[in-house]
Amino acid sequence: MTDQKAYFFDMDGVLFDSMPNHAIAWEEVMKAHGLSFTARDCYINEGRTGESVIREAMWKARNRDATPDEITQIYSEKSAYFHRLGEAKAIPDVAEVLKHVQSCGHQIWVVTGSGQRTLIDSLHSMFPNIFDNQRMITAFDVTHGKPDPEPYLKAWERSGLSKEQCVVIENAPLGIRSGKAAGLTVYAVNTGILTREDLSQADCVFDSMAELLSFLRTQAYI
Ligand code: CA
Repeated sequence: MTDQKAYFFDMDGVLFDSMPNHAIAWEEVMKAHGLSFTARDCYINEGRTGESVIREAMWKARNRDATPDEITQIYSEKSAYFHRLGEAKAIPDVAEVLKHVQSCGHQIWVVTGSGQRTLIDSLHSMFPNIFDNQRMITAFDVTHGKPDPEPYLKAWERSGLSKEQCVVIENAPLGIRSGKAAGLTVYAVNTGILTREDLSQADCVFDSMAELLSFLRTQAYI
């Protein structure tokens, strides 16, 4: 099919509504350690490693680097808190977006910096018959995570399509930067608390998955 496309979906904040719980867990655990990390900090830094956000918060609060023990302790407390908050639900209307893309015969990929097996496995139960394990780029597949272009470049290479045929769906500034650095078209969907300005490096910004779906439906008939 000559007009085939490949859609590269980010996971947290695009497929799973996991960001609110990440923000709560980070804010509370950092506070308990006398560090400041707001929900906005969490959304702006989405995609960075836990170690790097802990080190930056420590520099800001105490003007020194965090010790390896502090990093391990804070990160394990944050992970435990996050898991206590329960499983994330699907982002509203993203299932309809996936079904539409699939019905058009396009490739569907997941490109995530996450290495959480449980989340990756639950993609299949939450969105049955959509994803193919051969079309997933996770933390296990790359050396450099977002905002490095490597994850999206890897997906593009494996798709066998031209860059013009590939579209990245992202919700976070660092993910958008990664997709653009890979030379791809990036659609941002604002599923969290950021402003449109925060996402303005994307080619298009949508306020919801429903809005993205309407746009994709008009594209399908061009
Ligand atoms: Ca994301």
